[in-house]
Amino acid sequence: MTSSALDIAQTLIRCLSVTPEEGGALDALQELLQGEGFTCDRLMFSDEDTPDVDNLFARIGTRPPHLCFAGHTDVVPPGNPSDWTHPPFDATVDDGWLFGRGAADMKGDIACFVAATLDYLEKTGGTPPGSISFLITGDEEGPAVNGTRKVLEWMAANGHTPDHCLVGEPSCSETLGDTLRIGRRGSLNGEIIVSGVQGHTAYPHLANNPLPGLIGILDAYLAEPLDDGTPHFAPSDLQITAIETGNEARNVIPSQVTARFNIRFNANHTADSLKDILRRKAAEAIDSKGLEHQISFLPASHCFVTEPGPLVELMADTIRDQTGIEPELSTGGGTSDARFVKDYCPVIEFGLVNKTIHAVDERVEIADLNRLTGIYGAFIEGYFPRFTKS
Ligand SMILES: [Zn+2]
Repeated sequence: MTSSALDIAQTLIRCLSVTPEEGGALDALQELLQGEGFTCDRLMFSDEDTPDVDNLFARIGTRPPHLCFAGHTDVVPPGNPSDWTHPPFDATVDDGWLFGRGAADMKGDIACFVAATLDYLEKTGGTPPGSISFLITGDEEGPAVNGTRKVLEWMAANGHTPDHCLVGEPSCSETLGDTLRIGRRGSLNGEIIVSGVQGHTAYPHLANNPLPGLIGILDAYLAEPLDDGTPHFAPSDLQITAIETGNEARNVIPSQVTARFNIRFNANHTADSLKDILRRKAAEAIDSKGLEHQISFLPASHCFVTEPGPLVELMADTIRDQTGIEPELSTGGGTSDARFVKDYCPVIEFGLVNKTIHAVDERVEIADLNRLTGIYGAFIEGYFPRFTKS
């Protein structure tokens, strides 16, 4: 392996690291980084009901400030390989584009921050004026139990808690530089079951139809917005994702109906405050109908924001200098491992264009790999003068 972002990205894409398989991707990074003087730890974690996951922590330097780049080498399955223009694990270069599963999410991004770091170390004679580390997991696309969350616990227990973290997830939507993520909405999944009495549709007085009860609850949920948003967040949003009775007959009132919903929420709420609101509204809506109802929730992911400050400013300035684009400071999109990092240090997310992630023909422009390597490189150069305490 050499240190160009394209070479590293191709090496990683050719590793079959569909979650939770390591596929040789962490081995390849470890070999490269050890050769450049990094101390590497491989961290295998296990838990009940989830696959074992291999992770890599690599660090150079022992002093503060400690800048950590975080990412994942696991990828989602490619689907049917014959749907792809080029085989998903061949890392084919075609007309200025690198094709392959993980090209953008996020082997390409890892390649850029590793290449940028190695370039920087070459310029500074092999050691940084503080510390640079890589937290690379194989469990981001999976249950996310044996990955970043546990690596961070291990880092804290071993004196490796970083001062700042950049997660290299593909944050940009159209053009490299357009989006810098400074937080994420929380996500809460819930289920309501309303139970009544089954009967003939011609004799409704002998039955108790749970569907109007459920409709009343859902109507109450959608009647007014959860909030108006915050300076950094869009309004919280509830989407109903399923309503099921399992009833195929036209003349039967079903005994039970289940609805599922997902809420993406902002800093006006916590999962617990939302649960209270939803339980209260349901109880009010269904009152006096003689129906039973139950509401249950899956574990929620919490909302967070890294308020604009030195770290956000440094990255936004760097993006503007390198690309001429003013990045939007966003809290949109799905969840990522930044939700775990935020408990340890300020964290931002910036990486490639995410248009083709998880899709057939996932790909990245080679020019973008070079541009992103330049942005990360300038970010590292700006980081140490800015955060070294004299
Ligand atoms: Zn990702």
